[in-house]
Amino acid sequence: MHALSAPHFHDETKAREYLESLRWPNGPICPHCGSVKTPYKLEGKSHRPGLWKCVGCHEQFTVTVGTVFERSKIPLSKWLTATYLLCSSKKGMSSHQLHRTLGITYKTAWFMTHRIREAMKDGSGTLLGGPGTSGIVEADETYLGKTTGQGKGPHLSKKEKVVALVEREGRVRAFHVPSVTVNTLKPILEGQIAQSARVMTDEAQHYKKAAESFANHEKVNHGVKEYVRGDVTTNSVEGYFGILKRGLSGTYQHVSPAHLKRYVEEFSFRYNNRVALGIEDAQRAANALKQIEGKRLTYRRIGA
Ligand SMILES: [Zn+2]
Repeated sequence: MHALSAPHFHDETKAREYLESLRWPNGPICPHCGSVKTPYKLEGKSHRPGLWKCVGCHEQFTVTVGTVFERSKIPLSKWLTATYLLCSSKKGMSSHQLHRTLGITYKTAWFMTHRIREAMKDGSGTLLGGPGTSGIVEADETYLGKTTGQGKGPHLSKKEKVVALVEREGRVRAFHVPSVTVNTLKPILEGQIAQSARVMTDEAQHYKKAAESFANHEKVNHGVKEYVRGDVTTNSVEGYFGILKRGLSGTYQHVSPAHLKRYVEEFSFRYNNRVALGIEDAQRAANALKQIEGKRLTYRRIGA
């Protein structure tokens, strides 16, 4: 059976039931007051399908209230299909592709992909390299944008900069930053990495100070072509940048700096839910759908 032939991609009732089972595995929870007291279903012609009434606060709700899908006129089955496609394509899916695949306008496709990227945002908040992980976090930066020169030099200042922290054999967190300096790097490293972790970088001066508070900061010297020394290397973070760059150049040719952050989140989400960690396409899409709540305010504040 082809993955997209599942009923919840075609039938609105099945789509709603599928999302309800993912979001509320133990029964509906009121998004207004958080009550788990069994709400009752409002049925009949005067109510839209999937409407519940809370016995705690007496407010009504559906499974999409308080999520990035809220108040959307787009059928839920299309939201689920778009989420699946964005989660299962290695390089992502552009709004143009989605517009053609789903038979929706380009504008609608653009709107949907940006909302789904909101859901993909990592909200776990746990430190990288802490207990239960490899204990190793590799940090590095990359430069994206039009090639105006090779190697290091003043042309880099015109490029977009992304800093990534990769927990070896684990998760990534990546950030679009205005500059690569101690001042931008230090709060990122200290805010995301466990103090007990072994931090690994190249020999760049900015990492020396940015990582000074960690017990272990080990470096490879790329300047003299040293890429691996024992288990010290930045190959994992460079692997992540490879995926990001191939994806952005192939699928999203014209990412504006204003939206780069969201595309970076999208690539990080897929990396954090990758096959090597035992997560297949359907599970990856389900994981994104479990994260659709509580992000609408953030989305509004960004204002797009
Ligand atoms: Zn309530």
